[in-house]
Amino acid sequence: MRLVVGAATDVGRVREGNEDGYLVDDSVGLVALADGMGGHLGGEVASATALEALRAAVRAGQPLRDAMLDANNAVFAKARTDSALTGMGTTLTAGTLAAGGTLILAHVGDSRGYLLRDGELRRLTTDHSHVQELVDDGQLTDDEAAVHPMRNIVTRALGIDETVDVDVYPVELRVDDRVLLCSDGLTDMVHEDVIAAELRREPDPAVAAHKLVDRANAAGGVDNITVVVVAVNDGPSTSSGGSSEASSVELAPSVAPMVAEALLVDEPEPGKATRDRPPDDPGRRGRRVKTAIWVLAVVAVLGVAVGAIAWYARNTYYVGFDGNAVTVYQGVPGGLLVWDPTVDRRTTLSRGDLRAADAAAVADEKTFSSLDDANAFVARLRAHAVEAATTTTTSPAPTTTTVAPEAPTTTTIAGP
Ligand code: MG
Repeated sequence: MRLVVGAATDVGRVREGNEDGYLVDDSVGLVALADGMGGHLGGEVASATALEALRAAVRAGQPLRDAMLDANNAVFAKARTDSALTGMGTTLTAGTLAAGGTLILAHVGDSRGYLLRDGELRRLTTDHSHVQELVDDGQLTDDEAAVHPMRNIVTRALGIDETVDVDVYPVELRVDDRVLLCSDGLTDMVHEDVIAAELRREPDPAVAAHKLVDRANAAGGVDNITVVVVAVNDGPSTSSGGSSEASSVELAPSVAPMVAEALLVDEPEPGKATRDRPPDDPGRRGRRVKTAIWVLAVVAVLGVAVGAIAWYARNTYYVGFDGNAVTVYQGVPGGLLVWDPTVDRRTTLSRGDLRAADAAAVADEKTFSSLDDANAFVARLRAHAVEAATTTTTSPAPTTTTVAPEAPTTTTIAGP
């Protein structure tokens, strides 16, 4: 099995700078793609910093998940040193080839990893984005999400917080597979069916990468576009970088211990007995399946923890002021991790309508565990406001409107 990599990046037709970046490091079997954000300068610095830190960590022998955390630290630390870089962040999707033909994919953000196998394109990664949550919730279809105005809001990125949750996916590669990593500048512009057709048609990964970039530009190129294509070819690895494909790089298995070290715990040293062993040796397969299940269980537990926080952040509501308008927000006041509160609805009640005690409760941003409870609270505020208005301004008319002219009063000062 030989892996041949081709890649392309382009600024697109609208943006002034390219905040995307990628790296292919054949010495450690690493491919990665980053899409920076946080202003022109911040975005470029964030993606470049993340990729360099990732490369250094993998070269130093770190497992891929730890290397992703190193990249997070590097971006986070740099963002704190320079006010021009405050708030910068980046997506990062990376793959390392471990011994035995397993590709370990690690992922944060809304760039994507895909697998083309037997002509079918499958998404390997889950977007960490607001619209993906709506898709998971059944509120949007994939096609609706692809054109949704909020599709660029990410819920997880590198460099935003001191730590980050990294998704890790092991992929058992087969000959003729194609793995695609791409930034949203491709997937926002080009339908997955067209991407699949292009990958099926073009065998050379470098040519395929350039053609996909051209497709995105032809469709408008509104964002930076970056594409990395990995072709899994037949035949023994040459490991000398002697790839026959022009401008493609052959990827050798990583020398670094990957997250897959648990997955491949019984794997012989690369090149020792691997090729002599029948690939379907039941003992080996059984162990691999068991360890794979263990790894997936750990990933699932982490996923559940992140999911619980996300659930809490998105299933909490509070009532506060937006300016003077009483407003119902979805989320936790001040936000939780990367989940910032969003406006659910702005009511017609304003600060001046409220009783003092109610205004104080709203200013305190009282939280509720459901939208119904938040709405019931607003209804109570409205009832109090109406009550207050009734007693002060529309009280029975006669006493206020028919007041007789005040009788002239005379003060008599006794003369001397
Ligand atoms: Mg982008």
